[in-house]
Amino acid sequence: MNIEQLKGIGPKTLEIFNKIGIYTVEDLLTYYPFKYLNINFKRIEELTENEMAYVKVRIATLPKVYYIRRNFNYLSFSAFAGEKLINVKIFNRAFLKQHLLMGKDIVLVGKYNELKNSFMASDIRFNLENHKLEPKYHLVSGLKESVLTKAMAKALELTHDIYDYVPEPYNTKYDLIAKSQALEYIHRPKTIAEIKLAKIKLIYEELFNYTFKINALKIKNRHTLGIKREINQDSINEFLSELPFKLTTDQLTTIKEVLGDLETDQRMNRLVLGDVGSGKTIVAVIAILANHLSGYQSAFMAPTEILAKQHYESIKNYFSQLNLNVALLMGHLKSKEKTEIYTAIAEGKIDLVIGTHALINDKVAFQNLGLVVIDEQHLFGVKQRNALQEKGQMGPDVLYLSATPIPRSYALCLYGDLDLSMIKTKPKMRKEVKTIIKKETEIKDVLFKMLEEIKLGHQIFVVSPLIEEEEEGELNSVNKLKEKLNMAFKDQVPIAIIHGKMKQKQKDEIMNDFLNGTIKILISTTVIEVGIDIPNATMMVIFNAERFGLAALHQLRGRVGRNDLQSYCYLISNSENNSRLKVVEESTDGFYISEKDFEQRGQGDLFGVKQSGDMTFKIADIRQDSKILLQASKDSEKYLKDQEYLNNKHYEQILEDINFLD
Ligand code: ADP
Ligand code: MG
Repeated sequence: MNIEQLKGIGPKTLEIFNKIGIYTVEDLLTYYPFKYLNINFKRIEELTENEMAYVKVRIATLPKVYYIRRNFNYLSFSAFAGEKLINVKIFNRAFLKQHLLMGKDIVLVGKYNELKNSFMASDIRFNLENHKLEPKYHLVSGLKESVLTKAMAKALELTHDIYDYVPEPYNTKYDLIAKSQALEYIHRPKTIAEIKLAKIKLIYEELFNYTFKINALKIKNRHTLGIKREINQDSINEFLSELPFKLTTDQLTTIKEVLGDLETDQRMNRLVLGDVGSGKTIVAVIAILANHLSGYQSAFMAPTEILAKQHYESIKNYFSQLNLNVALLMGHLKSKEKTEIYTAIAEGKIDLVIGTHALINDKVAFQNLGLVVIDEQHLFGVKQRNALQEKGQMGPDVLYLSATPIPRSYALCLYGDLDLSMIKTKPKMRKEVKTIIKKETEIKDVLFKMLEEIKLGHQIFVVSPLIEEEEEGELNSVNKLKEKLNMAFKDQVPIAIIHGKMKQKQKDEIMNDFLNGTIKILISTTVIEVGIDIPNATMMVIFNAERFGLAALHQLRGRVGRNDLQSYCYLISNSENNSRLKVVEESTDGFYISEKDFEQRGQGDLFGVKQSGDMTFKIADIRQDSKILLQASKDSEKYLKDQEYLNNKHYEQILEDINFLD
């Protein structure tokens, strides 16, 4: 059922929902809260300055509305908080006036200023229930929490129509609650125990479903024929001998595995897992060369335009002595330019095309595509992964590169459809990034160091995770940080903000300004452009570092130290227990850090902000839920092997979708 059939969803709301990928009632019901607020009423006397609180009050005077300008008003009244008479102010709620009757009990949400005896409310609630667990959802501009909550309530009446993807035997085996129950509990929990029950069910379901697909693809891939080539080892050796560096053992092993794949008639589906800076690009370059020498075209897909451009520059450089035509294809090119490239690709005049997902465009048709390389593959979904390979007449070989080092056992569950190569050792050449943990009270030291680096002409990344508290501007914390930095540096240093909710084009523009040095300090809200090279950036400052997973911290740190200069990474955290952060401080080995990360994550904190991770599951977190992942993968493999799926329409459909049954 589509959401427009829900009562109260108009065209405008529909558009916003569609924008965030919600089309059906099921999509809406699986738009899970990212945290829960444990609402506990406080007395006004208990509040500390700037504390966000829920306070029960009784209205003492009729509210007055003040219109300041269009779309901007405030409402003000007095109220009794216990014995105390306080002033209340709330912006843009003129429409509440008729509901705020004298003598009525309401709940104020907001902050109290004792000096002014005034309460600045961000919301007013009429539900007086204490000890309520309030779900919090990620909102986007234009989507109000109240609208989402209302739509969700309507959708929750329909949970019985929602399919339970967990096959019955497994529901029984693990005592999992019914799907409809789980949806009710996750969106409207009465107790913490209910949230836990719901999460276990929904996480298991998601991972079972995912690993079923992966396990099915694994079997399919084993039987897919591809191109058989003769490898021109002499030319490759010559190319290798002219490189300005000697390859590491792991690079050599990986190259051997890749060339082996290209040689056999089984289609290559190989994932190269290696830390940032471990030298994965050269592996792809050799594969492209071997493919070219056998007379085939190659395509190289990167997740962002900037990354595609950087690869274009460096790969063209590698091939400068060879007769190999390289083109760069990006979405924003003029249509005439694009058409020219399309034609050249179709006529076989281009040997290698590098680009973003613009490569998936229907208009791109190759003469004889033999190899596809996908960089930062974890940023592409399974569907996108497959779209590009469909372009080859023969079924091109595919090489995936990923800078997310994870332990082998987990990699096998998540990417089991692919063969794995791991590059564990890094080329020894650069200075290691110095990592330092600081408390917020020591911020002066950090600012001092920042200024020092700026004076040396270097650039700085600052990362500050969004701390979504209440409805009031989520970006507040980041904007405030920018103000503070501007104050500290007396407005002399160009600073910019980049965040996940910006349009890709806008993000690219800012990244470009950072790349060309116009911007000196770049504040971002999360792990954005993975893999990008800003050689001049020597410092990474991460606020609220405890909110990130270790792997994410390591990933962020990888953005600096991409030059011969000494680079620094500051982890700022006020948490008393720094044992997690110490792992990152003491090691720069991504595989080691990742292993620790998997080890240390216990049952996740239900109330905490979900740690920024790297796989995009709706509710599962591969590190937090790693045990469930291993189990679900085992179960789904058995479900597939023993053909238990027969008569389960959903799973039969999945197999049909990936052409497994024929
Ligand atoms: P990543 O694995 O992060 O994609 P790259 O392939 O971009 O890493 O390599 C990072 C840098 O290391 C590049 O500048 C590359 O030229 C260099 N490099 C790669 N392999 C070696 C090596 N064996 N010895 C020295 N430098 C290397
Ligand atoms: Mg790379």
